[in-house]
Amino acid sequence: MTDVILAINAGSSSIKFALFTAERGATPLTRVYSGAIDGISGQPRFSVADAQGQQLLSREIALGEPFSYETAIGLLLDWIDHHEDGMRLIGVGHRVVHGGGRFSAPVLVDAAVMAELATFTPLAPLHQPHNLAPIQSLATHHPQIPQVACFDTVFHHTQPHVAQAFALPHDLSDQGIRRYGFHGLSYEYIASVLPEVVGPLADGRVVVAHLGNGASMCAMRGRKSVATTMGFSVLDGLMMGTRCGALDPGVILYLMGEHGMDVAAITDLLYHRSGLLGVSGVSNDMRALLDSSAPRAAEAIDLFVYRIGRALGELAATLGGLDALVFTAGIGEHAAPIRARVCREAAWLGLRLNPTANERGGPQISADDSTVATWVIPTDEDLMIARHTRSLLASA
Ligand code: ADP
Repeated sequence: MTDVILAINAGSSSIKFALFTAERGATPLTRVYSGAIDGISGQPRFSVADAQGQQLLSREIALGEPFSYETAIGLLLDWIDHHEDGMRLIGVGHRVVHGGGRFSAPVLVDAAVMAELATFTPLAPLHQPHNLAPIQSLATHHPQIPQVACFDTVFHHTQPHVAQAFALPHDLSDQGIRRYGFHGLSYEYIASVLPEVVGPLADGRVVVAHLGNGASMCAMRGRKSVATTMGFSVLDGLMMGTRCGALDPGVILYLMGEHGMDVAAITDLLYHRSGLLGVSGVSNDMRALLDSSAPRAAEAIDLFVYRIGRALGELAATLGGLDALVFTAGIGEHAAPIRARVCREAAWLGLRLNPTANERGGPQISADDSTVATWVIPTDEDLMIARHTRSLLASA
């Protein structure tokens, strides 16, 4: 039997997972399988790929109506139990979007922790309940399996107070209305591999651009977060697939006052109908926009790049300069034309692109005479979750 750790990233439309072999000691964790149960608001499908990305399984599943996380988790555990490799599940790590002001590290979940995590739901109502549902399901049906919650907010606990504060009355700040920052597991992973990839500059002034469907940027000094573009919620900062990014709060007041929009309507607008999708009217998918000849697709890409350029200037200012820039996540790792445009906008910082290396996908994409070393580094949030899970299991 091989001991394995399961990393789960559960959202509203899918449960993504990865399995890692977890031998004792300092042996690196090895990813053996990845997969997803997706389409959970329509026809769910269970798919698994091996470590090389080769698809092993893809089948429609009847989960009953309405969709139940319990059935989905049961199916996944059953697959692990009956797999010919002989895997023994020793722990499950979960991506949890919000750890509030309370959790400054990943945590082993028990009933008290679970109750506390549920109190953060109002801070992330569209994400936290989906993150917690599989934890609850496992705790109910498989209480013997240890579970670890890994938070997207934790990496940003090192931000100075001034970077976390809003200019609001104190009593509101005291109630937790402040900037938290997200995508922390991705930034933590990048910070962990920076020394081996970029060398001594890793401990200098670095900005990481996590450009996926959700997008944010993080300024690091000494591989610790000092500022980030997302704030109280995952809406702030960069333009995203369907989220608006930074928005004058006056717009919300106007929509409420003049358009009679309520919380539900504004939530739907800002989370699901804005960003690349809203501006282009074509798609939230960068590949579709790059392939499209629609003028509004070009406009959406222009705005996406412009917002990144502005944020880069802001983050470089908080760092007092810039030694390295890292691109990661779906767009950051794969969209060479977007990276090229962002780098062109950043020429004022002394950044010079090596176009051939950029087309190739890196890893280093800056030219020799660039004063900002620029890299493409694939992120791995699942591995970060598995690492935390193993280390908490070892200390339990
Ligand atoms: P999520 O936030 O859902 O994890 P990802 O990190 O998977 O998102 O990124 C999804 C985004 O990456 C989509 O906009 C997708 O179009 C984009 N993307 C993926 N591959 C490419 C590619 N080859 N070229 C351009 N964009 C890409």
